[in-house]
Amino acid sequence: MKKIILTLFALLTITFVIKAQQQVNRCGTTEYTDRMKANDPSMQQRMNEIEHNLEVWMANHPTYNMKYIITIPVVVHVVYNTAAQNISDDQIRSQIDVLNEDYNRRNADTIHTPDCFKPLAGSMPINFCLASRDPQGNWTNGIVRVQTNVPCFSDDAVKYDTAGGSNIWDPNTYCNIWVCNECGDVLGYGTYPGGGPTSDGVVSHVLAFGRGANYNLLNHYNLGRTTTHEVGHWLNLYHPWGQGGGGGCTDSDDCFNTPYQDGPTYGCPSGPQISCNNGPCGNMYEVYMDYTDDACMNMFATCEINRMVATLNGTRQLLLNSNGCLLNDIPDIANIRNFSIMPNPANEKLTIEITLDKLGDINYSLVNILGDVVFQNSIGMEMGGKYEISTRSLPAGIYSLRLNTAKESITRKVVIIH
Ligand SMILES: [Zn+2]
Repeated sequence: MKKIILTLFALLTITFVIKAQQQVNRCGTTEYTDRMKANDPSMQQRMNEIEHNLEVWMANHPTYNMKYIITIPVVVHVVYNTAAQNISDDQIRSQIDVLNEDYNRRNADTIHTPDCFKPLAGSMPINFCLASRDPQGNWTNGIVRVQTNVPCFSDDAVKYDTAGGSNIWDPNTYCNIWVCNECGDVLGYGTYPGGGPTSDGVVSHVLAFGRGANYNLLNHYNLGRTTTHEVGHWLNLYHPWGQGGGGGCTDSDDCFNTPYQDGPTYGCPSGPQISCNNGPCGNMYEVYMDYTDDACMNMFATCEINRMVATLNGTRQLLLNSNGCLLNDIPDIANIRNFSIMPNPANEKLTIEITLDKLGDINYSLVNILGDVVFQNSIGMEMGGKYEISTRSLPAGIYSLRLNTAKESITRKVVIIH
């Protein structure tokens, strides 16, 4: 009798464990991206162009090693419905620590990378930091807290104030991470480069964000690897089995040293899992981009690192000029090295020359003595250049020429004579 009860108990336990693992959806990125593409027919084309540029960049930089640390300013939007979902600053910082360890391969569990894959494990010098400056240049701790009456979020509602979420910070200069209760127990999803400008970033389920025994986290997903995985998508990484749901051996992640595999890996296998004739080493289920339990993933492959480095030198390069993590005050915010006007006084035209220290969103305007804007021009993100303004049709008089770069503004007096 005792044996039967024990057996029943064991069966119940196994059922419960299986159920607990099936209840979560490890990553919603594929389904999310499919929905985005259905709503935005030009998205696939943008992604194709980005992929093409990424491959060209990698071909032109076959042995590229990053020589300096890339700093990625992060803003974490905590959108909470219950007090428990309003996670602590410490829990948030534990997740930033995980990102820095995993991407720099300073994680303690590199010892679990199989010998087969150790030569293929890569790292990049990158520093994820909670933002110290908000998009307006004000001091911040990089954490936005929003109380919501939305019990759980699906689609992108969490990214919009009007839907009970929290609006994005400029995705060109911040990595946006939203932490909330996701409907359907989706652990997370990330946007690939080329998505929408108001939805770019990563969403993590509040029960899978951060690392630590003191925090309320799901058993198998309590080491912060959900966000490591989703930031990987944000930096243009795919699942090892490709962009589809898996099941075939023809699609891949466009990485040359991750083997083909026939679909996601769940749980925590021991020893090689062979598929798609990839023996003897088998599926590279230790990469963060698989679906393995947090404790069983511990590496990025070097080709994945190459894709992310190319992305940071390509479509996400504006992050490299972000002031989001600046700790210095105004002098370092300034980026205008030179702003000169020739000739002054001007008759037919004037030429302005702008030189910036850092990439800036240049626009300039000419304002008459009454304060009316009589001319304006937006150049976009540039390091500077020479630009002409025709003054032929403007009345003689004194004007102000105002230069804005988002970081700094300078005004010069201009005289027009005829
Ligand atoms: Zn994924």
